[in-house]
Amino acid sequence: NLNNGLNFSGGPGALPAAVLAQVQKSIMCVPEVGLSILGISHRSDWFLGVVTELENNIRRLLGLDKSYHVLFLQGGATQQFSMVPMTLLHGKNKHPEYLHTGYWSGKVLGEARKETNPHVLWSGESDGFHRLPANDELDFSADAPYLHYVSNETVEGLQFHRVLGRDDVPRVCDMSSDFLSKPCEAERFSIIYAHAQKNIGPAGVTVVLIRDELLQNMPDNLPGWLDYRSHIKAHSNYNTPPVFAIYVVLLVTRWLLDDIGGLNAMNTLNQRKAALLYEALDQSDGFYLGRAARTDRSVMNAVFNLKTPELEQRFLSASRDAGFSGLSGHRVIGGIRASMYNGLELQAVEKLVEFMSTFQKNES
Ligand code: PMP
Repeated sequence: NLNNGLNFSGGPGALPAAVLAQVQKSIMCVPEVGLSILGISHRSDWFLGVVTELENNIRRLLGLDKSYHVLFLQGGATQQFSMVPMTLLHGKNKHPEYLHTGYWSGKVLGEARKETNPHVLWSGESDGFHRLPANDELDFSADAPYLHYVSNETVEGLQFHRVLGRDDVPRVCDMSSDFLSKPCEAERFSIIYAHAQKNIGPAGVTVVLIRDELLQNMPDNLPGWLDYRSHIKAHSNYNTPPVFAIYVVLLVTRWLLDDIGGLNAMNTLNQRKAALLYEALDQSDGFYLGRAARTDRSVMNAVFNLKTPELEQRFLSASRDAGFSGLSGHRVIGGIRASMYNGLELQAVEKLVEFMSTFQKNES
């Protein structure tokens, strides 16, 4: 009996049980094809249909029109850290604006610096990434070739609850850890990228949404794989795509549309899970200490500490004994992180909150 129900992993994360049941069957045989999903050709009509349906589902979920391309790529979100500046900077002012709001936007910046001279508009590094900037701390430039930010900092548990930037400067956003967990006003972005392994599938595929107009001034000397146009032309089949991962993402989008009822409904569920957990932190009389400023708390990743590292270790060990998985914080900051992606059920958070309360009583 797999303990999928109590999987609070930061990613790859919990997937919906209903999807896992279909995935399990597909390993032996995809009914429409009569073959295992692991052995179906990426050139088969069936797989071309999978990509088309998935693209349409993402368009439906986000309300995207044909001015966007929807791509399914490999290389993770990390590959996009480089592809974005490689694509957008041709012949332009070389100072795109970047926000440095946590571990992942730091990684993004590291790659951007290899391509260009990014301007860091705001950084939370000096105070340890405990909060995000307010609007009056951000003076966006009208001349920037683009603005890049990370919508949800997975490690620190910080999430922007608004769209940033100017409408006349292309917005680029790494939405890896909150993509399709809520509506996101996608049409206000020029590029959105998100790997699958948090809210929408297994590792191995990254969704990229890119506005067609950005491709007009692209450099012509990029390696084929690093040129978005290759993938657009080949309908995400430029080289062998991750057939299995793409199929699982299709099943998750069907689940979002048919079982959950779309992104507003998904958001309501995710908000309820997060509210329950943060309420438990806030009512613990300081036994559990939330890491993020209240206004910037992530609905996806609740990061918190206990008073000492020893107490945290006891918490983690007791949580494992009680059947919970994935609660240790990211290795760079430690502490506890409860990730509550789409696939995690409300009952799992109810159980965690109950466990936290019992642990607190036992330790007091
Ligand atoms: N961006 C964010 C927000 C992430 O959380 C992660 C990984 N957890 C990455 C980028 C890196 O993704 P990948 O491992 O797919 O390259």
